[in-house]
Parts: sequence; structure tokens; C-alpha cells
Amino acid sequence: MLLHVRSMPFEVRLVELRYADAHCHVNPVNGLGAERVAAKFRKVGGWFIALVALSPSHYGFKPFAVEGYEQVAALLAREVEAVRRAGLEAAGFLGIHPAEVDRMVAQMGVEEAYRRGIELVEAVARLCLRYGFTGLGEVGRPHYQCRAESVTICNLILDRALELARDYGLLAHLHLEQAGEATARDVSQRLKSALQRRMVAVHHARGDTLKGCLKEGLWVTVPARRDDLKLAFKQPPHYMVESDFLDDPKRPGAVVEPFRIPEEIAGAAGEVEVNEEYLWRICVDNVVEFYGVKPP
Ligand SMILES: [Zn+2]
Repeated sequence: MLLHVRSMPFEVRLVELRYADAHCHVNPVNGLGAERVAAKFRKVGGWFIALVALSPSHYGFKPFAVEGYEQVAALLAREVEAVRRAGLEAAGFLGIHPAEVDRMVAQMGVEEAYRRGIELVEAVARLCLRYGFTGLGEVGRPHYQCRAESVTICNLILDRALELARDYGLLAHLHLEQAGEATARDVSQRLKSALQRRMVAVHHARGDTLKGCLKEGLWVTVPARRDDLKLAFKQPPHYMVESDFLDDPKRPGAVVEPFRIPEEIAGAAGEVEVNEEYLWRICVDNVVEFYGVKPP
């Protein structure tokens, strides 16, 4: 796709950029599914998609049970394959979403939710190895107001997830509140080694949380919305761009579709000055470095 980039006032250059979606969900049961999403994304210059599995109930599988996550893992493996067949690079992520943990606390009480959550995250890590997935995700804390006990259980599960990711050599995608520098500091302190610091990404980072994470030297993925990108474009190019597409026809306006990423980037680039090298860094180089995939 051709993109107009203003490198100097009044000068417009044409750049042929390639686009990556660093955090995307697909739902072949109720939505478009990977095959159609990848084909549409490829047409507009897409070269990579990180597919993050949704929770079992989104696909009609049994919630809060190892069995349900096994079914999700098998589905994710097929969807990752579909992206590759469409000619794009892909990475698969399987995790336990903090909203699921919150639901478990509500339904089964604190202790049972903790026991079940740890059992599930351990099962999920083993499934990542069995299917050759790239990482654990999403794990973390809810971004909305929830039970105080849920935050505690989420933190315990998050720490176990980070331990498993480190032991198994997996990347991790974190879903967290947006508390600015406090969120960044919290993640930083949970990561014990410099090596793992390079293997964890804070997803959906915006505003002060984005700035804080960059300051802490953490990887982040920024939502591909024009306003979020405009702020990101004023930061050093040490992040990636995500759609966080839900592939849920019942919530069409909830997020940007992957195939609209080029449009959103072009829109933001029309308002905040960035050069071609900057855009290649966030759309290609950083993705190659973080996910360990081949450049387009
Ligand atoms: Zn997500």
C-alpha cells in the first residue's frame, strides 16, 4: 500500500510500507476467522499477524477447564496455519485472560479460583510447547474496576505465567490496567532477568502507560487508532502496532480491523511528522526482533 509521508513541510513522499498486527484475535466460529482476515490484510500490505486466542466460551467451548483450553489450542494451531497459508508470517499466543480469572473468583470463590487458575496457566504453558506457539497471552490484570480479590489472584497467576514463560522460553503478552508509570514499574519489577524483559510485551499501551513502559525499556503494542498513534509517533520508535480486533460481529465498532491499520497509520502520519525509517521500525524491524520472524 502506498502511504504519503510528510518528511518536511510541503513535501510529500511515497513510501511502500509493510504492516504488522502485533495483537489480534480471530474467531472462525462466529466471525471472519484467520483465513479471511489474513487475505484482506495481505491485500493492503500486511505481512505479519500475532494471533492471541480468545477464552474458551467465545468459541462455544467449556469455560474454566483444561479441556476447554485444549480445544482452544487446537483451534489456534489451525488458525496460525491459515495465516501462514495466506502468505503471512504468524505467531500464536494462548493464555488465561484476566477477565476469566475475575469470573472464576465470582463463581467459585477466591481459593478455588486461585487453585484452578494456576492449574490452567500450567496447562496452557504445556499446550504452548506442544503446539509450538510463540507465547503466553493474554495474562495480567483486568483494565476495568473489579473485585479487589480478583486483582490479587490475577497477580499470583501473572507471576506464575511469567515464571513458566521464562522456563519454557515463551514470549508473553500482558493485559493490564492503564495506570501510567505505575503499571510500567509494576511489570518491570516482576521481571527478574534482562533476557525476559526483551520477551514480554505490554499490550494496548496508550498515553502515560505507553510513555512509562518505553521509559522502563519494555516492549509495548499500541492500538492502531489515529489518536493513540498520534501520541505514539511523538515517542521513540520502540513499540509495535496492534488492532486488538475481536472478530465479533456483535461488537463491530469495538476495535479497528487489521486491514484498517494502514489507513490509521496514514491518518496519524498526516498529522504528526514521522519519517519512513521510523515507520519501518515500528511495523517491521521491531516485529522481527520481538517475535523472531523473518522480515517481509
Ligand atoms: Zn486482546
